[in-house]
Amino acid sequence: MSGAGHFARLDSAGFPPFEPGSVWLVGAGPGAPGLISVLAYHALGKADVIVYDALVGEGVLAWATPDAELVHAGKRGGKPSPKQADISLRLIEWARSGRRVLRLKGGDPFMFGRGGEECQALRRAGVPFRIVPGITSGIGGLGYAGIPVTHRATNHAVIFLTGHDDTGAVPQSVDWAAIATAAPVIVMFMAVKHLASIAERLIAAGRSPADPLAIVSNATLPDQSVAVTTLGEAAALGAREDVPTPAIVVCGPVVDYRHVLGWFGAAERENTIG
Ligand code: SAH
Repeated sequence: MSGAGHFARLDSAGFPPFEPGSVWLVGAGPGAPGLISVLAYHALGKADVIVYDALVGEGVLAWATPDAELVHAGKRGGKPSPKQADISLRLIEWARSGRRVLRLKGGDPFMFGRGGEECQALRRAGVPFRIVPGITSGIGGLGYAGIPVTHRATNHAVIFLTGHDDTGAVPQSVDWAAIATAAPVIVMFMAVKHLASIAERLIAAGRSPADPLAIVSNATLPDQSVAVTTLGEAAALGAREDVPTPAIVVCGPVVDYRHVLGWFGAAERENTIG
């Protein structure tokens, strides 16, 4: 069957109806347009309004129909986001005016993406919603760098950590002593800015400074870059102005598999779908 025929089959598939007056909270994946789900692709073809975050890849937005209204909800990691309540309010208003509202978030909407908060507001307002999970940069983004988030020989547990709380500071409520030793692999979101103080806390709590650490910037996109260092040296790298963001930080022995498993090279980057 030709490629076009294959996609035509999707058009007639029994997708759940995107009802006017409802909100779909959809994960856009880490950036490459090929890394969205079939349900997300369906939703992009049906939505009247698409409210998207800063980290949603341009290529993903290109899947939208020309009639959809695109609204940038413009938050960027590392900065306080006073507009969160406004975004929720606007989602409710659009839904109440009978639109099909697609709330598009980078990665997975429930991974440090405030998806839960927006759904709470929708629930309170009685607006029906659906969650369409996405590929998180903290797993899929690392895969593009040849770093498996788990590997049987190295780790049976993973920690996902955010590098800042809603005030923009290193999270205070985190039990650093527990985090430092609980799992061999720690995946850190929004962590470049405070990398020095995060590394300091982890080392003070008993984590080895020799632990390998990778910073994967613009994961899955043609300009993806990977910097590899150690936890002890990470502060120096984090302080450099030229570390491109967004970037996901991973600390632990899985980083070393990159030498064998790295696959996203020059030829692969030429394909802009993924
Ligand atoms: N919900 C998103 C995470 C939102 S928090 C997800 O599941 O991926 C924003 C952080 O995600 C950024 O600061 C960065 O740490 C990470 N991130 C998102 N997209 C990325 C990308 N393409 N490359 C590297 N890191 C990314």
